[in-house]
Amino acid sequence: MIKGPVPEYIKNGVAVLQYADDTIFCIQDDKEQASYLKLLLYLYEDMSGLKINFTKSEVIMVSQEESKSLDFSNMFNCSAGSRIHIADWLPICEKIMKRLDGWKGSALSLGGRLVLVNSYLSNLPVYAMSMFWLPKTVLERMDTARKKFFWQGGSMKKKYHLIKWIKITKPKGKGGLGIKDLRRMNISLLCKWWWKVENGEGIWQEIVRKKYLKKGMICMLTKNPKNSPVGNDLLKVRHIYLKGRTMRVGNGKSTSFWHDKWCSLVSLADKFPELYQINVGQKCSVEEMKRKNWRPSFRRWLHEDLQNQYRRLLDIIFRYSLNSDKDYAKWDSEKSGIFFVKSTYKHLCRHDYGLNFSRIWKAKLPLKIRLVIQNSILTKGNLGKRKWKGNKSCAFCSENESVQHLFFECSTAKYVFGSCL
Ligand SMILES: [Zn+2]
Repeated sequence: MIKGPVPEYIKNGVAVLQYADDTIFCIQDDKEQASYLKLLLYLYEDMSGLKINFTKSEVIMVSQEESKSLDFSNMFNCSAGSRIHIADWLPICEKIMKRLDGWKGSALSLGGRLVLVNSYLSNLPVYAMSMFWLPKTVLERMDTARKKFFWQGGSMKKKYHLIKWIKITKPKGKGGLGIKDLRRMNISLLCKWWWKVENGEGIWQEIVRKKYLKKGMICMLTKNPKNSPVGNDLLKVRHIYLKGRTMRVGNGKSTSFWHDKWCSLVSLADKFPELYQINVGQKCSVEEMKRKNWRPSFRRWLHEDLQNQYRRLLDIIFRYSLNSDKDYAKWDSEKSGIFFVKSTYKHLCRHDYGLNFSRIWKAKLPLKIRLVIQNSILTKGNLGKRKWKGNKSCAFCSENESVQHLFFECSTAKYVFGSCL
């Protein structure tokens, strides 16, 4: 009676989806089927005695045709929903702002606020970040709220931001304060979908594989306006995912010969870029190349240097033999080979420059003292950098007053600390 969409991929299509206390009914663009569904819902109400609240429900047309969407929403007495827009993110931003407005910020020290930003504010939008590529404006709003809370607490009075936000969001071991960078978090969370597409089993994986991965290789997917917006968002992080995983080759059908990492630490396209440029089968899988006896064909004659590269390439691939098992992906940053968002985040931070600050974080010091060592107090030197025009010299001597001077180099400081020991 009711057929869900995509019956060509799943038997009878996907008709019902349930998550926690939400239910989604999917039907094809057919008014007769919609009336059957309405009837079924009424019957359900009658038999179970439970009322369905149609005013709380929404009708969403995948094709986004407004007139049809209105027709169906009238039929069900629901409102017509739409795709996600920037305005839909505002509740998340507002939620963050609301939490910041309270008394908590002003009652906490800088260290306390750091803990709160880390544990609470950064985690609030995680669910949304794991589904969508966050628009830049939304990220900026969230960061503005986090910055304001971290430096000003709950007060309205503007205060100096003593460390650049970009430095604060570095990992602790690299001189930062370990506050999560939202974009990197967003990327790491989205990469997880690629892992699930390749390694998970479920209805959605089955549909995605049948619809998009006809050749079985995710590196062959291209951006297409016909794709779902989530699919196109995922394509933005695919290169990061591909760099982080290595394919273990079985039958070689799901591994791209040139683009995937499978026989060396980088892909063959990166290792032999010149050969890659002039070869004919750039989209070949490993299995197809095996059928050609590992002999890639090239568009032109190889000169001596390229001949040498070609020999090196053959040396690498001749060692491989295929079997009947399926190819599978292994995540490089984890010993177990299984994808973790945490290790992806760490991987994204690997190029952050910073001296080894891990000793500060391991030291048994109160958090606010550790922050002082990170140069986050308003010394006269720091004020000077922020266009303060007063006298920048130390109150005890004529040197410039910096954290280093005030706590370690000033003769008075040395005397004070010396007398304490
Ligand atoms: Zn001094």
